[in-house]
Amino acid sequence: MIRVNSTARAAAIVTVVVVALLSSAYVLGRALVPDEPRRHATGITTSGDDPHYADQLPSDEPSSTPSASRSAGPTEAGQDGSGRDASGDKLFGAHTGTGNARLALTFDDGPDPRYTPQVLATLREYDVKATFCVVGENAQDHPDLIQAIVADGHTLCNHSWHHDVSLGNRSADQIRADLLRTNAAIRAAVPEVPIVWYRQPGGAWTYPVVSVAQQLGMTPLHWSVDPSDWQAPGAGKIAATVATQVEPGSVVLLHDAGGDRQGTVDALRRILPDLSTRFELEALPTDPT
Ligand SMILES: [Zn+2]
Repeated sequence: MIRVNSTARAAAIVTVVVVALLSSAYVLGRALVPDEPRRHATGITTSGDDPHYADQLPSDEPSSTPSASRSAGPTEAGQDGSGRDASGDKLFGAHTGTGNARLALTFDDGPDPRYTPQVLATLREYDVKATFCVVGENAQDHPDLIQAIVADGHTLCNHSWHHDVSLGNRSADQIRADLLRTNAAIRAAVPEVPIVWYRQPGGAWTYPVVSVAQQLGMTPLHWSVDPSDWQAPGAGKIAATVATQVEPGSVVLLHDAGGDRQGTVDALRRILPDLSTRFELEALPTDPT
């Protein structure tokens, strides 16, 4: 009898506990489920015909955008323009500055037939040279734009074949193949032009990606000023961020592709008159050593 009673009591306790757990799980599930569609419905806007790379991932608001989950790498480096101080250990030695008093503007993710020509025309108007970190597949699709970039005196930087933010987590052989494929696409357009810079998509540097880039004769290039123009905050905000954060030696991260970049183009028109009087702007040299 005693044994039966205690067994029954134990069974009753187990039942109560199980019911309680199931109820909690149900309540929790109900609380979570309604958020999902909203979370996916907000965030970055994408236009259907764009190659949208969701490039630089914001560190200060990692849960505010769906793209934050696309990479688990050290993507926060430099997102707020403080890469040198806050995240230097995650850059694996990638350059964040020009190493001299000059200012370098860098344009990522292109070339793009809508925005790259506008950027080139604006730079030409102010006689400013810059550096274009191009994506291999876009270079392959638009060799004429690669040639136009070089013809205007700008320099090139490898930005991977398909803007793979997780490239640094792949094998050294895979990384090497990606970077070489990208260089081959660039060289198909401009055979003689040196490619001595590599910028990891998302700033998601790893030791292997830095090592492979260096083995291939490319210097890892990060940045020090990031107006988050890839989020299309508007020309005014982009211009204000750049104008207030630049200092001698800054490398400024901008985008001429990967989404609606009209804000970046318009911001460039606003800031170049000021920047070109305050600083000497340079295309990053192709002989960095
Ligand atoms: Zn990019």
